[in-house]
Amino acid sequence: MRTTTAPSAGFRLTPQRAEILRLLEGNTSHPSAEEIYRRVHRKFPGMSFATVYNTLQSLLGRGELLEIRIDPKRSRFDPFTPQHAHLMCVKCGAIADVRTPAELKPLGKPAGFKVLSCNVEFYGVCPACAGKTATKEAAKWQKRTQKRTRK
Ligand SMILES: [Zn+2]
Ligand SMILES: [Zn+2]
Repeated sequence: MRTTTAPSAGFRLTPQRAEILRLLEGNTSHPSAEEIYRRVHRKFPGMSFATVYNTLQSLLGRGELLEIRIDPKRSRFDPFTPQHAHLMCVKCGAIADVRTPAELKPLGKPAGFKVLSCNVEFYGVCPACAGKTATKEAAKWQKRTQKRTRK
């Protein structure tokens, strides 16, 4: 298996790439490239980080993946592409999807300034990290952030 850092013209579905896609499908944990690499590497020890990185880049280019910048330490990736906002736990870095009003508009802006996009980020402390919360609620939260399929 040849790995290359050059962007490939087409999107060849190698077993490694298929594994990355399988890992991302329905994944609501917003993993970083490093996390994806660690998990895929277990199954394909010969897989390089460059392959993971290039696969993520082609998916981003094809609009099948979102790069989330809510985590100041690293980019996180999201296969759920419809518009939504994120809520990140400042203690453990868990990221949850949250819904926002369909359209957010700035209340007044400089004349002639065209708005192209809007990015809403919420920060907080998840029930598991809050400690004080009932363990039942914490377990529910962990189950939700680890859930692999969407309703
Ligand atoms: Zn947390
Ligand atoms: Zn998301």
